[in-house]
This record gives sequence, C-alpha cells and structure tokens, in this order.
Amino acid sequence: MKSRILYTKPSITDLEVSYATDAAANGWGDKCYDYINRFEREFSAFLGVDFAVATSSCTGALHMGMAALGVGPGDEVILADTNWIATASPIVNLGATPVFVDVLPDSWCINPSLIENAITERTKAIVATHIYGNLCDTDALLAIGEKYSLPVIEDSAEALGSVYKGKRAGSMGAFGTFSFHGTKTITTGEGGIFVTNDSSLYENVLTLSNHGRAKGQVKQFWPDMVGFKYKMSNIQAAIGCAQLERIQELCERKREILTYYKHGLADIHSVSMNPEPEGTVNGAWMPTVVFEAVTGITRENLQSAFARENIDARVFFYPLSGMPMFSKNPENVVSYDIPERAINLPSYHDITNEEQDRVIDVIRKLING
Ligand SMILES: *Cc1c(COP(=O)(O)O)cnc(C)c1O
Repeated sequence: MKSRILYTKPSITDLEVSYATDAAANGWGDKCYDYINRFEREFSAFLGVDFAVATSSCTGALHMGMAALGVGPGDEVILADTNWIATASPIVNLGATPVFVDVLPDSWCINPSLIENAITERTKAIVATHIYGNLCDTDALLAIGEKYSLPVIEDSAEALGSVYKGKRAGSMGAFGTFSFHGTKTITTGEGGIFVTNDSSLYENVLTLSNHGRAKGQVKQFWPDMVGFKYKMSNIQAAIGCAQLERIQELCERKREILTYYKHGLADIHSVSMNPEPEGTVNGAWMPTVVFEAVTGITRENLQSAFARENIDARVFFYPLSGMPMFSKNPENVVSYDIPERAINLPSYHDITNEEQDRVIDVIRKLING
C-alpha cells in the first residue's frame, strides 16, 4: 500500500507551540485577553478592516452577525446552493429561511444575474460565499445590495488570501466571517472571526458575543439583552497569533500547491480548476478539479480511483437544497451538476511535489482511460 496522502492538515511550528505554551502558563488573570486582543488587532490590520471579534467558529460569527443585522423569524436570506451547511444553519437557527440560488459554472460562486428574481419583501440579506478560494462577482453583488438596500455578507471561511480588485475577501460587505478550523488556511484548532467596517454593527456583535453585556455597562453580571457565547479562548488566539506571523508564507504555499496542480494538468483540456480572473488573487484554499461532462467521469469513479491510490480526495459540496431538511431545487442546474463530476485535491502545507505528482497521475490515468 502506498503511503497515505492526507487531504488537509495544519502547519504547526515551534512558534505556535511556544505561543500556546505561554498562553497556557501565563495567559490568565489580567493577561487573560492579551492574545485575543492581539489576534483581533493583527487580523484586522492584515485584512484592512476597522473592527474584529474573534469567535469560537465561523458558524458562530455568522450567527451573531446575522442576528445583529436583525435576521429573524419570517425573513429570507439569499445564498448560493453550492455551500457548506455552516452558511445556512445560522439562518435556520434564527428562524429565517435560506433561499438557494444557482452558481456560475466557472467560479462555482453565486450567480448575480439570478439574485434579483429571488428577492422578495422578506429578503433580509445576501450571502456571498467565496467558495474554495474563488471570488464572487463582488461588485455585482454589492450593486444589487445597494439597489435593494440589502446587506451583503461575505462568508470568507475559504477565502483567506483571496483579493478582489485590491481588497481582501471579507473586507467589502456589511460584514465578513472567517474560519480557523483545522482544515482552513490558518488555524486555531477551532475558531473564527467576525470583521466589519461598520462601527454600530461591531458594537452590536460585541455585545451579543458577551452574553448581551454592553461594553459601557458598569453594573456587574448585568446583560442588557439575550446574547451568545461564541468566544475564542486566549490559548486558541495564541496559536492564531503565531499563524498570523506566518500568514504570507501559509497563503503563498496554498497558491503554489494550486499552481503545481494546474501545471501538471495544463495539457488536459477537459478539466478545469479554480479560476483567477483579471484583477483578482485566488487564495487557493481548496484546489478543485471539475471534469467536463464529455469525459463521462463521475464522482464515484473519482472517489474509487483516489481511494485505490490511498489519496484522501473529497467530494465537491452537494447542493444544500438537495439535503433532507430543505426542499429540492433542481432548477439550480449548475449546483446540481458540478458535484457529479468534480473532486477536491489534497493541499496541506507540507505536501511534497512527489505526492502532488501521485495525485496528478490519478487524474491523467482517468482521462487517458
Ligand atoms: C468551514 C466553513 C464554515 C464554518 O466554519 P467553522 O469554523 O467550522 O464554523 C463556514 N462557511 C464555509 C464556506 C466554510 O468553508
């Protein structure tokens, strides 16, 4: 049996270990927020935003951000059908309804031309998920948001390092969210962050994140409203601070891995990978290959071919509307079609060229029969 090629795993060096050790040994008492404050400050500076609230997950950041925008029972929130469930579950947990819109065939992100049709008087927000590092057509989404007075939320969990016309993913909408789950470009084990340039939205989320206790409230143990408890711990933030010191290296390596795959498959015209249109930088979180329908290659072919070579490749996101808790929306033809013939490739920081060659080989053999 060939050695196992993992799908993802974080890059943890002595720096992360030393910061985590310091937080565990010393980060208590009047130092108990030091790494959290530093992480929020440095992450905001990296992203080019004014405010950040570190959280226990991206899901929690989305939940609080949507609550702060007033999403509630009876409301609708528009999002791409191609998505991870974490983008939809906060909507449902707030008593609102996710409205799933089809994606573009090249970027696999929400199709802006289909959004206006999905807007009703109940629509409360539009979510732009930059899937697998690919950027949404953000100008088009922001223009629709402007036209209908709807906030655009950037779920940027997969788009750390992605840049759209000089602005980082997550910094352009009403608010952005990121995940620091162990599979993401930087990690804190579990974790996330809420970012915004809107000071009142920030104050609102800050209060919600502290069990409804407003920053200026001097009375002890006195919440002014019912909030949430989605805080990042100081120990997690310490690991995050170390990862932030290495963010350039971590993001560049992701792009290098994607480029290596693209070069290895450049002569095969019946596959496409994560695009990088003019004026954008793809953060390349998840190198993904889509096979053209004419190849006849299916998800099942792909899964078994990679499994045979002991390579941990993963299926492309199923359309959320096809899951049992939602109602099927097969008119989202692209969202239903692409996962039938696509696969996510391994892309962890320390993957070797030889390992990437093994991955490329599986694809070349499938194409050449
Ligand atoms: C990973 C991910 C999330 C959830 O992140 P958690 O930190 O696990 O809550 C949300 N949205 C997208 C698009 C993701 O990929």
